[in-house]
Amino acid sequence: DPVLQLSGITKAYNASKPNVVEVLQGIDLTLAAGEVVALVAPSGAGKSTLLHIAGLLDTPDTGRVEIAGEDMTGQPDRRRTRMRRADVGFIYQFHHLLPEFTALENIILPQLANGVTRVAAEGRARELLEKVGISPRADHRPAALSGGEQQRVAFCRALANAPKLLLADEPTGNLDPATSDQVFAALLELVRATGLSALIATHNLELAAKMDRQIRLEAGRLVPL
Ligand code: ADP
Ligand code: ADP
Repeated sequence: DPVLQLSGITKAYNASKPNVVEVLQGIDLTLAAGEVVALVAPSGAGKSTLLHIAGLLDTPDTGRVEIAGEDMTGQPDRRRTRMRRADVGFIYQFHHLLPEFTALENIILPQLANGVTRVAAEGRARELLEKVGISPRADHRPAALSGGEQQRVAFCRALANAPKLLLADEPTGNLDPATSDQVFAALLELVRATGLSALIATHNLELAAKMDRQIRLEAGRLVPL
């Protein structure tokens, strides 16, 4: 089964009003296991809406969302939440780490919420920090980390529960260009090492070119870049 399959997804805002915004007008997308796809979209094209629907944070007006072969359409909220916690990782432009907790703790907490033991969660957190090259920063709080280090911790947190699918929205968009390239390379390496599927939104065509496939969201539809 594909890790993610979107079929005939439509979504409009203000559907009942004269200022209706038809953001998605028939989205079909299949992500095979291990596939890393770049999503390129001008601002306002509906990129966030698409990522939120794919990650079960929002529901489409019509169409089907399948994750790991399971049709999530019309499933109860608690089932969708459980699937999202276990199988989907999110990364945003800003790290959204908890400021009162260390890097290590920020990666442990979502695992505890997912039922993992403290010992196993810490082991996994240390392993992930090692993979992105910031083990020496394990006991620092986010404020003591550079922007690039903060994003690396956010990557580890997103992968903490070993999701099948990673959804990233401009994951290095708030970093300066040189840092962005390095941190993006670390993300791709982590994704490749883990073998998960990823849909990564970016404006940066050079970064997009490093992925397996590039698609553009245009006038509510996906077209090859
Ligand atoms: P309707 O039920 O009329 O179709 P929606 O449920 O689609 O309306 O809209 C949700 C709410 O989000 C609206 O009341 C609207 O005021 C608000 N909203 C409008 N524009 C935006 C925007 N660009 N971003 C976020 N929220 C918005
Ligand atoms: P992107 O992430 O590509 O910038 P979004 O998915 O956030 O785009 O939004 C796509 C379009 O839908 C924009 O025109 C935005 O203003 C509109 N929109 C987003 N959320 C709402 C909402 N809740 N209500 C009404 N319009 C919205």
